[in-house]
Amino acid sequence: NRRIVLASRPHGEPSAAHFRLEEGRAPTPRDGEILLRTRWLSLDPYMRGRMSAAKSYAEPVAIGEPMTGEVVAEVAASNDPAYAVGDLVAAFSGWQDYAIATGKGLRRVDPALAPPTTALGILGMPGMTAYAGLLTIGRPKPGETVVVAAAAGPVGSLVGQIARIKGARVVGIAGGPEKCAYLTETLGFDAALDHRGDDLPGALAAACPGGIDVYFENVGGAVFEAVMPLLNDFARMPVCGLVAGYNATELPAGPDRTPLLMRAILTKRLHLQGFIVWDFADQAPAFQRDVSDWLKAGRVTYREDIVEGLENAPEAFIGMLRGRNFGKLVVRVA
Ligand code: NDP
Repeated sequence: NRRIVLASRPHGEPSAAHFRLEEGRAPTPRDGEILLRTRWLSLDPYMRGRMSAAKSYAEPVAIGEPMTGEVVAEVAASNDPAYAVGDLVAAFSGWQDYAIATGKGLRRVDPALAPPTTALGILGMPGMTAYAGLLTIGRPKPGETVVVAAAAGPVGSLVGQIARIKGARVVGIAGGPEKCAYLTETLGFDAALDHRGDDLPGALAAACPGGIDVYFENVGGAVFEAVMPLLNDFARMPVCGLVAGYNATELPAGPDRTPLLMRAILTKRLHLQGFIVWDFADQAPAFQRDVSDWLKAGRVTYREDIVEGLENAPEAFIGMLRGRNFGKLVVRVA
């Protein structure tokens, strides 16, 4: 049984030294327990937060403990009559080959309905984040302009596709020409902008001549700075993630722009709302139904970036925070 534990807490960008691969014996399930064998491990930006001891909405990973993460696993042994050997489930069992579970907290994955890895992406946590955050807080209306960054990733790509289904004009922001081409050519976004380009504020203003009605915030930093002056009266902003700052060690240099933001919130009557996907747990059935239907009908699609081998998870995770992934980042463990 291999497991990747948190070796130390990073200050700034994590490196391989903050992780440690350990080998041991696979655990044995007791009465009522199930032995899970990880097939695929999801890598997600929130894991950077778990490496830090700073107070957040979830507890940090303890030093020496396996990194947390959701996996699709196969039942390898079962003392629970509800689960048979070979069943596939999604579980938060972390960066390891094997884990013990009880039936609690497991979600069944039916490979006949969709490829199992979609349970970690478009039909899983990132998909639910896009669906609930956009429709509940963003509420795009036909003809409105929706902007989303990290737009080639699992959250942003579905945000844009759902906004298109709802009749909005969609502008995606992503790193590099390849991702931008994917947004317009494959996903049908109306425009795509490279945030590493020369003049993002100018390019965004040109792409949004009628201003911005919904900004789905995945990134923060320079992208938000470009968005803020373009927000229309009564614009909605689901605040989902701030990945540009996850490795930050200090606040950006002044001057303090909080008064500008507060004035914009007041005078434009902006609606900013932070959320964590689990806040919308009651929408899970509607999400599963709608996104499965759109997938089957070819109205939404997704892209995966599959990395081979548990031992390569740390490098892939570090790369994701720099935009090296192209699509939902998943590690094939077995
Ligand atoms: P992605 O696969 O999109 O990976 C993160 C992407 O962020 C990178 O690929 C990179 O793409 C982009 N990025 C990194 N740094 C910057 C930067 N400085 N400026 C602009 N873009 C940058 O991740 P997800 O789709 O899984 O997650 C997207 C966001 O949603 C994250 O902020 C995440 O924390 C958040 N999230 C929030 C949830 C919630 O419950 N609130 C749940 C799930 C996700 P590029 O090459 O385009 O720059």
